[in-house]
Amino acid sequence: MKVNLISRHFIYLLFISLVSCEQESPEQYWQKGNLHTHSFWSDGDDFPEMIIQWYKDNNYQFIALSDHNTIASRDYWYKLKTLDEQNKTLEKYQKSFGDWVETKIDSSGTYVRLKTFEEYKSKLEHLKSFLIIRSEEVTSSFENKPVHINVTNIKEKIEPFKGNSVYEVMQQTLDAVHAQRKKFNISMFAHINHPNFGYGINVEDLKKLNGERFFELYNGHPAVHNEGDDMHIDLETMWDLINISYYNDRKPLLLGIATDDSHNYHVKSINYSNTGRGWVMVNSQKIETASLIEAMETGDFYSSSGVLLKKVYHSKEKLFVEVEPKEGIVYEIIFMGYRKGSYNIEELKRVKGTSSDYTFQENDLFVRAKINSNDLKENPYLVGETKQAWVQPVVVKNK
Ligand SMILES: [Zn+2]
Ligand SMILES: [Zn+2]
Repeated sequence: MKVNLISRHFIYLLFISLVSCEQESPEQYWQKGNLHTHSFWSDGDDFPEMIIQWYKDNNYQFIALSDHNTIASRDYWYKLKTLDEQNKTLEKYQKSFGDWVETKIDSSGTYVRLKTFEEYKSKLEHLKSFLIIRSEEVTSSFENKPVHINVTNIKEKIEPFKGNSVYEVMQQTLDAVHAQRKKFNISMFAHINHPNFGYGINVEDLKKLNGERFFELYNGHPAVHNEGDDMHIDLETMWDLINISYYNDRKPLLLGIATDDSHNYHVKSINYSNTGRGWVMVNSQKIETASLIEAMETGDFYSSSGVLLKKVYHSKEKLFVEVEPKEGIVYEIIFMGYRKGSYNIEELKRVKGTSSDYTFQENDLFVRAKINSNDLKENPYLVGETKQAWVQPVVVKNK
C-alpha cells in the first residue's frame, strides 16, 4: 500500500515535471543573419549583388551591407582597379547578372554603375525567406583611434562625428541613431564594432555610454583582435565587465553580436576578411526587419562562430541550452554569471554534452552561457580557431 502511494506520488511528480518542461520549451525559429559586410560602395572588393547572392546561397535569411559612411543611394560609377581585373570581378558579375550590369569605358578606364540599395534590394530580396536590411558603418575616429558604429535599418545617412574623446564620438553617434529612430518611428539600432581594432575603444569608454545595447563580441576581420593581447583584454571579458557596470547602474545589459565584417570575396585565407565566420541566429517566426530587431532587442538571439543551437530559452528558474550536434564533435556548455557580492563573472556550471540547464541560485544577478567545441573552422579568423556560440545574458528576476 505504502509502496503504491510512493510510486503514485512519483508518477505524479514525473507528470508535473513533464508538463512544466513542455510549457517551458517554446517553438523557436532561428533566422541566420550577418549585419556587417562591405562592398564596392566602400572598401569591399565585390559588387553588392554578388555578395548578397553568396549569403542567399549559403542559407542566411538576412543580410545588411554596411559600407563606410554611405547608405548606397547616390549615382556612383565605380572605376575598376588592377586588382579587380586580376580577380575577374566584372566577368563574374556579368556571368551571374547578365544585362542587369551597366558598364562604360572611356580613355581613363572601365566603369561599372553600382546599384543603389533600393535596386539591389528589389533584385535579390525574397519575400518571407530572404531579407536585405539597410545599414551604414558610421566611421569616425578620435586621435587616430577608430570609432566604428553600425546602424541597422538606417533611413538617413549619419555623418561621422568629431568629438573631444572616444566616448563623446560614440555617444554622439548613439544619440543620432536614437533621434533618427524617433523621427521615423521605426525599429533600428546601433552596434559598436570591433572595440579592439586599433585598440580604439576601451572598457571604461563603453561603461559610460547611455543607450548602448549591442556590440561586436566576435568579428571575423583578421585585424580586429577579438582575443586582445598582453596589454588589452579580450572582448568576452570586456563584455562581462561592461555588464557588471550596466547592471549596477540599472541600465539594460549589453548584448553580444558576431559578424563577418567581410571585405574580400575572391581569395579565402586567414589574412583576408571573408564571409561565413560570424553571424547571429535570431528567434523570429517572421523574416521581417521589425520582428528581427524586436527579437534582438529582447535578447532573443545567440551569436555564433560555427556552433548551432537547437534551443535556447529561460524561465524565472533556469536557463536552458541545447546544441544542434555535428557527428564526432565534442561540445562543452559553460554557464557564467554575476553574483551578489562579487566583482567578477564566475563560472557557475560546466558540462560536456549537447544539452544542459542551469537553475538560478539565490545570489545570481545575471547569467549567460557559452558553448565551445573541438570543431576546427575551415577558414578561421585565427590559427587553430574552434567553433563557438554565445548566449545572451539573462537578468535573474524575483530574487
Ligand atoms: Zn570597422
Ligand atoms: Zn566594417
